[in-house]
Amino acid sequence: MSDLLVARPYIDGRFQDAGTSRPVTSPFDGRKVGEVQEADTSHVQVAVEAARRAQREWAALPVLDRVDLLYRGLELCRQRNDMFAEMITKEVGKTIRESREEMVEYACDHFRRAAEDVLRYRGQVLPTTQERTSSKRILVTHRPAGVVGLVTPWNFPVDIAAITITYALAVGDTVVWKPSPYAPLSCAMFAELLDDAGFPAGVLNMLTGDAGVGQALVSHPDVDVVSFTGSTGVGATIARTAALKNLMLELGGNGPLVVLDDADLDRAVAATITGCYYLAGQCCTAAERILVHRSVADDFIERLVAATRALKVGDPLDEDTDMGPVCNAAVLDKCVAHIRQAEERGAKVVLGGNAEGLMHEPTVLTGVTPDMEIAREETFGPVAPVLTFGDDDEAVAVGNGTRYGLTAAVFTRDLARGWRFAERLDHGTVLVNETTNYWDQLAPFGGSKQSGSGRELATWMLDALTEIKQIVLELT
Ligand code: NAD
Repeated sequence: MSDLLVARPYIDGRFQDAGTSRPVTSPFDGRKVGEVQEADTSHVQVAVEAARRAQREWAALPVLDRVDLLYRGLELCRQRNDMFAEMITKEVGKTIRESREEMVEYACDHFRRAAEDVLRYRGQVLPTTQERTSSKRILVTHRPAGVVGLVTPWNFPVDIAAITITYALAVGDTVVWKPSPYAPLSCAMFAELLDDAGFPAGVLNMLTGDAGVGQALVSHPDVDVVSFTGSTGVGATIARTAALKNLMLELGGNGPLVVLDDADLDRAVAATITGCYYLAGQCCTAAERILVHRSVADDFIERLVAATRALKVGDPLDEDTDMGPVCNAAVLDKCVAHIRQAEERGAKVVLGGNAEGLMHEPTVLTGVTPDMEIAREETFGPVAPVLTFGDDDEAVAVGNGTRYGLTAAVFTRDLARGWRFAERLDHGTVLVNETTNYWDQLAPFGGSKQSGSGRELATWMLDALTEIKQIVLELT
């Protein structure tokens, strides 16, 4: 499979020839990595029909047969981890250590977690309250929702797709997946992995392609659930298009990382480094705003600048590189524009600030205020914008003063104070003394406000991919 250097649409158990190819290049050095043949809207129709045809039979299989296939997928994924990691790094520019983490810690184990969770997914039996009779029982069960239309971003190209794919297949849904145009090769490798594991034709279909293919998929009348991870702007369009379908939306973030006056500053700095520069800042859970208590700000900034300067920036395939390029020109342009606008309004670049090609220096920006674009919007680049505050109420108000609500973090030596902060910050995840870029794969993940709707992972994922059905029994 290592020689799969042309990504093609995978429909009904076959990779299909889709005509002309375009090159896929590395964001680090522009070198050609492979090619992709893009699907068009006619492929969407064929793929959804294949998924629909396969779904009933797939759902009717004994659950243990589906689970056995998931374990076969796990085994193959573990064998191919290194190949996947290398391809992800070449296509999207994340460091090889980050790509390996994506595969080993997240993507592969979704097969196992989905297999375990589906076997323990339970319904309920309720007593009836209607008409004061005791002769009825209500069974609450879950049935597979049907065909899932999945649209994914490039920043965790295999992991994010694997969550929905493994849980959907576990529970008896079938999937039509449109990956990001920036990561077609690693995603085609994942489709091939499922084929090699023996999943039957039609249960997973993968359509390389652009936004038009995505639109055709999410608006298709025979798609029952839309699972989308990506930017808030595109999520809003998809929510309108897919209005009457079951919707899972995992969108952008603008997370605050709050450093209180009693925080362990070294710990807060380490968390800021991970929060701002992991994957060159291109995580939905990135620390997008660093809120520091005025009394410790100078000390914090000095330590942050020293730690940032120590990062090794360069070739993402080198084992010791800490930060590689950003993925594409749109990401770079937004990051540069946010920094420039902040500078125009009085913020100061105290480290970094420049870019060459798609390599943007890790940057520390001070004097940032809540009205600046960099504080209001998701920047998605390697920048630590530092804002200061005077008391806890101000920190909460600024932390919540955003249309996003994905992840927040607070640093304090006083756990009770941290707890109170966690209760007051209206984000889907609040971390006390841990970086915003920390996730647990068995905890509900998702955002409030315009960061999305619904929660993924574990049984929350199964809830999203099934329909609740009640069956009423009259016993007399
Ligand atoms: P994006 O929104 O530009 O694209 C995501 C996917 O949507 C791609 O496959 C793209 O081709 C497709 N698409 C674009 N327009 C479409 C349309 N009109 N209809 C259907 N599909 C369409 O996002 P991206 O640049 O790939 O990823 C970065 C964004 O994703 C960031 O905002 C980040 O915060 C977010 N993200 C969120 C999470 C989360 O779990 N909340 C995780 C990762 C990334």
